[in-house]
Amino acid sequence: MTFTIVFLIAFIASFGLRHWLSQRQIRYVAKHRDAVPAEFAEKVTLAEHQKAADYTIAKLRLGIIENGVSAIILIGFTLLGGLQILNMALLQLLGEGIPQQMALLVSIVLISGVLDIPFSWYKQFHLEERFGFNRMTKKLFFSDMFKGISVGSAIGVPLLWVILSLMEKAGDLWWLWAWAVLTVFSLLMQWVFPTFIAPLFNKFQALDEGPLKTQIEALLKRCDFASQGLFVMDGSKRSAHGNAFFAGMGKAKRIVFFDTLIEKLNPGEVEAVLAHELGHYKCNHIRKRLLVSFALSFAMFALLGWISTKVWFYTDLGVMPNLNGYNGGLALALFMLVSPVFSFFFTPLSSLASRKHEYEADGFAAEKSSAKDLVTALVKLYQDNASTLTPDPIYTAFYSSHPPAPLRIANLQRFSS
Ligand SMILES: [Zn+2]
Repeated sequence: MTFTIVFLIAFIASFGLRHWLSQRQIRYVAKHRDAVPAEFAEKVTLAEHQKAADYTIAKLRLGIIENGVSAIILIGFTLLGGLQILNMALLQLLGEGIPQQMALLVSIVLISGVLDIPFSWYKQFHLEERFGFNRMTKKLFFSDMFKGISVGSAIGVPLLWVILSLMEKAGDLWWLWAWAVLTVFSLLMQWVFPTFIAPLFNKFQALDEGPLKTQIEALLKRCDFASQGLFVMDGSKRSAHGNAFFAGMGKAKRIVFFDTLIEKLNPGEVEAVLAHELGHYKCNHIRKRLLVSFALSFAMFALLGWISTKVWFYTDLGVMPNLNGYNGGLALALFMLVSPVFSFFFTPLSSLASRKHEYEADGFAAEKSSAKDLVTALVKLYQDNASTLTPDPIYTAFYSSHPPAPLRIANLQRFSS
């Protein structure tokens, strides 16, 4: 009973906090909809500012509905007995053992995935469409979905089988082995993803010879950065939003530009954006993030190792465990469903660390490239992505991985003056 109460309190608090933060952000953005902030008055028109406000609010409203639906799903699976019914039905069908536990986890992933389809569909073909950002065809939506399921199961099913086997056979320290397997796996994915998976979804072409390439090669030399090539990705087939990123680690690292980014920014601005991304690499942000994620997953596995042996963990969340032994899949399923309710409260910590990294990467870009170019690039990207220039401070402190535009630009202007 105790854990039911602890879970319910955390559940209500996290649901309420999510809702409250979204409502705050909606009110704040709406209140500032009628005037462009003074420091952007010359660069952003009122119409663009209002489009950003409307787009931000539309996304938040959809998020509020999603928050409600996922709350219902979570309670449906746990306290209302959905997982128990599913588990019993699969036990009758398949009997005890790893195949049954696998079927349980796969069913949960499928059920959640199916319930998510209307949201993704609405987001892409109504919300993004209404603001002129959607470039995806319905055919591509389904082909992405089909490829996603195929790749996900080709990788996920064997991995799950290994973890469930460890849970069953590796003794009390199974969680340590499972964590080690997952860590090695995610390091491997750093190479597998850009090399084999991303090309299934997008075309990558070498960046054309020309002034942009020359300028970028000079930047890479200045920063002493060895890449495995510069690529342009056809991001425009899905969305008008632009981006630049790195993929891979060690010797496999590639630099990838969305074609939409190169269309919108001039070569100096593209260079400044890339210098920012290089800053993340050179300031070791990428390595730090990876290490933190390994440490966190270690703690999560240790917790799962302990909690999965407690009968109350199952009964207090609405399922009956197998009292004579093996409950691997059931424990994983419950943990997957319930842990986000608790980890949500740590979001501000990771947002804070991320914003600190953004300032550092901006500093690096200002030093190796041009703060002025980065400012004009950011203004263009904020306009093109219709990001709000007037976010609520508390919402930002909680969620934002990037500092709000006015602060970020003010910080950069210190360098250029
Ligand atoms: Zn960044």
